[in-house]
Parts: sequence; structure tokens; C-alpha cells
Amino acid sequence: MTTAAVRLPSRPLPRPIHPYKDETTPSFVRRLETANALQPRQLRTLLKASRRPWLESLAAWTDNAPAVLLLAMPQLGQHDPDPSLRQKLAGRPTRTTHTTACQRCTLARGAGRYVEIYSTHEHVICPRHGLWIGDGVTGFTDQFSIRAAPEITAAWHHHRNLIARHGRSGVRKAFHIACVINWRWYDQFHHFNATTETYDELAADQPRYANSHAVVAASLYPAIVRVTAAISSPHWAEIAHSRHPGRFLDRISVEVTDGWQPRGASDPLRHWMDTDWLPGFRGSDTIRPSAPQIGTSYQKRSESA
Ligand SMILES: [Zn+2]
Repeated sequence: MTTAAVRLPSRPLPRPIHPYKDETTPSFVRRLETANALQPRQLRTLLKASRRPWLESLAAWTDNAPAVLLLAMPQLGQHDPDPSLRQKLAGRPTRTTHTTACQRCTLARGAGRYVEIYSTHEHVICPRHGLWIGDGVTGFTDQFSIRAAPEITAAWHHHRNLIARHGRSGVRKAFHIACVINWRWYDQFHHFNATTETYDELAADQPRYANSHAVVAASLYPAIVRVTAAISSPHWAEIAHSRHPGRFLDRISVEVTDGWQPRGASDPLRHWMDTDWLPGFRGSDTIRPSAPQIGTSYQKRSESA
């Protein structure tokens, strides 16, 4: 079939659906196919073969106004939208991180159990339903209850307070490196007592998920937030990078490392203190009200991933 021969239907499909806020395009198209009992990827293949903008086709098939789709899924729009739209989208996730939305929230809103969304780095739990939806969750079947470990929800409130106090950009960077440091400690010696206790609480309450990457990630999260707090504070970061970092190391040893002071050139925290290390960082995770963020928030055409 050549591109010129593709004629797309312009009328709504028998069972139109509504977009979920920050939904990824593949998720939305997959839900539309499922609702209409079409073959997997059938609509996707049509969209890719046509020159018509995906926004127009999806709006026609789902009987939604293009503006409604665009507000829910800004990635369907132009690379550089008009300033009033950009203003409305400020603070919404870029395409840096995506996750499976809380299945109980999506079910309650009539979108089924499986919706993929773009999200920001602190979006690791659903506070309403007490589910872990962060690192390690690749589908709704990976989401598990964290009610047995209230320290995870407490850490999440702390994380949000840090963003309010120090700004999103600094906390996002600090959280990124705190994840790298804590996972290295976990890989090297299985981390510290508080993490083991959280892991045991979760594994006892949710035995099906024991040993999963998601349960380990949830168990590490409180320590990751405590390290994030120490290194996102300009005051403490200055001490950490100074010639006399003793007070910073004391804080870490009391709050995270069971009295042990990280040392040695191969220790990941010491490496950060010496070099301001930030491996694999992919920039801001939210849309800014002005200047376009090339390669993160918008694409000229719809995504092909
Ligand atoms: Zn929820």
C-alpha cells in the first residue's frame, strides 16, 4: 500500500474514548483499538502510512475536539506551540519519564486498567490508593500496595516538600544522583538496615512481589530521598564539596548509612563529592512556560516509539 493510497476514516469509531491526562500516544491508540475490537497496531499502521497529522485523525476517530486532545497529550502538537498553550502546559511532564498510571485511578475514570502516562520524577506512588507506581513498574500487574511501609509515603511527602523548598530543577538533579549512589550501595553490599526492614515489611505483606526490582526500588526510596535532601540543599552541598566535608558525612552516616562514613575513591557518594558527578542525566522533566525544550516536550510529528 503506498502512502498516497491510504484513505483514513474521518468519522468517529463506534466506541470512541477520552484521553487520560499526560497519556502517551501509543497507550491512547492501543486503548482505542481495544475498545473497538480492532487488531493490535491496526490504527497505528494507518496513522503511520498517512500524511495527515495524527492529531486530526485521532480527534476525528474519537469525536474529541483537537484542543481537548492537545491539552491531555501535548506531544501531539507542534514543536513550538503558541505562548498561551505553552503557558497552560507549564509544569506538565516532558517525555523524559513514563510510567503506568495507577490502575485504580484509571479504572475509576473509565479508562481501563492499563494506561501509560508521562510523569515527573517524584511521581512514584499513588497517595490515594497507596500503590507503588515508580521505578520497576512496567505494567499494572507490577503495582503493589505500600500500606505495610508508611515510611515510603512519608518519604514521598518529604520529596515534594524538597521540591517546594529548593526548586524542581535542583531536586530533580539531586534525586537522579541519589538514585545512582543508593543503587550502587545496594549492589555493593545490599544497602543498610532501614532499607532491609522496609524490604521485609513489603515482602511479608506482598509475597508475590518479593524479589522484584520494584520492591527493592520502593525499599530504597526513603534513603534516596534522605540523600536527595542532603545534596539538594545549597548549604549542605557546599560543605560536601569543600575541603572539610566532615559535617556532611556525619549527617549521611546518622541518617542513611548506620553510622558508617562513606570513604574511598570507589565510593559513589565520595565520587559525587569530589567531582559533582551526574551520569546519564537527561535534563528537566517538566514543560517550561517559555523557550522550547528541544527534544523533550514536543515533536513535530507524533511519536513513533
Ligand atoms: Zn490511584
